[in-house]
Amino acid sequence: MGVQENLAKIKGEIDSISKQCGREGKVKLVAVSKFHPASSVSEAAEAGQILFGENRVQEASEKFDEVAKKFPAARLHIIGHLQRNKVKEAVRIASCIQSVDRAEIIDEIEKRCAETGKEIEILFEYHTGEESKSGFENDDEIRAALEKFSEGKYPHIKPRGFMTMAPFTEDESAIRASFKKLRELSISMQSEFPQFDLNELSMGMSGDFKIAIEEGSTMVRVGTAIFGERKN
Ligand SMILES: *Cc1c(COP(=O)(O)O)cnc(C)c1O
Repeated sequence: MGVQENLAKIKGEIDSISKQCGREGKVKLVAVSKFHPASSVSEAAEAGQILFGENRVQEASEKFDEVAKKFPAARLHIIGHLQRNKVKEAVRIASCIQSVDRAEIIDEIEKRCAETGKEIEILFEYHTGEESKSGFENDDEIRAALEKFSEGKYPHIKPRGFMTMAPFTEDESAIRASFKKLRELSISMQSEFPQFDLNELSMGMSGDFKIAIEEGSTMVRVGTAIFGERKN
């Protein structure tokens, strides 16, 4: 099947699962196009897909400068671990950085945004499963970062919620537990920081997005099921 058929199928599945759990229209789809060419991104964009996710800044900027010319409505989220020296370019090309996994990177994002006057959204990546390598492991570090937001230290950045990767396992209960952990974090942070909208929960990939939606995902990041296997 081609990209457009896959996309239609995934959207249909998202709709029916979210309907089943009374969350119709609440789940956005991020099409993860890493390792796939700009032509595949364009195919998805032609079918109406607006939101894309990429792991690597270098690869993303080569691709998305081209895509943006044809599809100005397309938006890019960075979803992979971000090195400090890539922040400037990430801020130029993305509307959201989902993979904010340490406090110091927020300072760098603010600095780079301030240089150009750009505003950007971020999600805090949270470590909820044993096998995921990155993400905040400690609620207090996220709390401390949100306190700095409260003090107005990051005027160009909007904190919008949380992101996680479930462990790679067949054990559904371990996956579900990981997503539950993210939802619980978001509920407690939202109550501590009511001045922010921390309602985005980016969780669920090709293999586990159904469970993620049942557990409250507002944003699923699907690559393989749309674009096919990656040749990396
Ligand atoms: C690659 C990747 C995805 C998409 O994974 P698939 O299994 O191909 O759907 C989602 N999130 C992150 C952070 C990724 O790196």
